[in-house]
Amino acid sequence: MNRRTFLQTTGLSTAAIATGLTSCISSSGNKAYMDRHFHISSGIHKIPKLRISMDRIVKETVGLRPFRASGPRLDCEMLGRKTIVHNYGHGGSGWSLSWGTGNIAREKAEATGEKRFAVLGCGTVGIATARLLQERGHEVTIYAKELPPHVTSFLATGTWSPAYRLCDPEKITPQLKADWEKACLFSFRTFQNLLGFNDIVSWVDEYVVRNDMPAANEMHGQLEIKGLLPERVLLSRKEHPFKASYVARMSGMMFNIPSYLHKQLNDFMLFGGKVKIREFKTLEDIDALEEKCVVNCTGLGAKFLFNDEELTPVSGQLSCLIPQPEVTYKLNTQGASVIARKDGIYLGGNGIVGNWDTTPSREQTEKVVTVLQELMQNMRG
Ligand SMILES: Cc1cc2nc3c(=O)[nH]c(=O)nc-3n(C[C@H](O)[C@H](O)[C@H](O)COP(=O)(O)OP(=O)(O)OC[C@H]3O[C@@H](n4cnc5c(N)ncnc54)[C@H](O)[C@@H]3O)c2cc1C
Repeated sequence: MNRRTFLQTTGLSTAAIATGLTSCISSSGNKAYMDRHFHISSGIHKIPKLRISMDRIVKETVGLRPFRASGPRLDCEMLGRKTIVHNYGHGGSGWSLSWGTGNIAREKAEATGEKRFAVLGCGTVGIATARLLQERGHEVTIYAKELPPHVTSFLATGTWSPAYRLCDPEKITPQLKADWEKACLFSFRTFQNLLGFNDIVSWVDEYVVRNDMPAANEMHGQLEIKGLLPERVLLSRKEHPFKASYVARMSGMMFNIPSYLHKQLNDFMLFGGKVKIREFKTLEDIDALEEKCVVNCTGLGAKFLFNDEELTPVSGQLSCLIPQPEVTYKLNTQGASVIARKDGIYLGGNGIVGNWDTTPSREQTEKVVTVLQELMQNMRG
């Protein structure tokens, strides 16, 4: 074979692979073509099915959402001559609001005139706050008892849910509403700048699948910013594969938690930040720090450290399936939710108020798996 013939032959086969021509002319290719034809003639929009069974569950976790009925604590207090800026108690919204409340805490910390800051806590809230202080050229040290993956933030679903279990809807004040709106917009914009970094943040389709119209969100009309997200679209029977009378599709944001926290913490260190493992048992321990301004991002830990009686856990169990790269959507149905992250497909999302027990329940996993198995079995296509 001379060079010209070789190039012609390989050129042809390369082009054939790129266009999918090879599959049309092989026997398995015929099958692929027929499947596609079937898809067109059946006229339904298909989505990949979850491979769901108990033996594919590889991890079960229970995390404790730091809930305060009156919403996150964002005020300042003096501890001797030290200023403590609080930034904790975000309930089920800590991931979503991390940059936004971090920005509010930064403004309060900078108002002290200090240039060196201590940030207590190394969850998503502490890391975001520390990065924001660094952005203004300040020297920041994070002090924490535990680092990811041993923090609540690592046990979250990781979706854009800025008002979920944030507070008691009856206790929303004009101040909370104003802080929330400011934090929500700041966070939203920050997340858009994080798109494209190895998918640490991405946009996904979310399906809401019900047999009746879902009730309005508990915060409906109170904590919401109209027009921030694309509209929810009601799908006709041909536009979805589910056996259900109400199916809607929305666009949502999700955070790939392990890679996200890894990048943010690495960035913090790259910009000269220090991380020190330290447990604070009393206020005297905090008072002993060199920094004169301390930002408190200890999540549920603030309950004991600052004697915050309002702070209470709302536990949430997640059961994780082996990742399926073709499954990239989010789904919400009666009794179960699904979010397909890079590190696994997370099922669950229950909430038990006042529960401190972090032992996963097999029964809870079975309940969620059963609901989703039935949904998948009844799915067309
Ligand atoms: C199941 C589940 C699903 C969730 N899903 C979502 C979601 O989809 N979207 C969303 O926005 N939010 C979600 N959340 C909520 C979110 O995870 C929390 O609001 C958030 O993780 C709180 O972050 P944090 O940094 O304040 O606290 P943590 O992550 O708990 O970090 C606290 C830090 O403080 C340190 N610390 C505590 N006490 C002390 C002490 N005494 N001394 C020294 N260090 C101390 C800890 O070691 C840790 O480093 C979910 C939560 C759960 C449990």
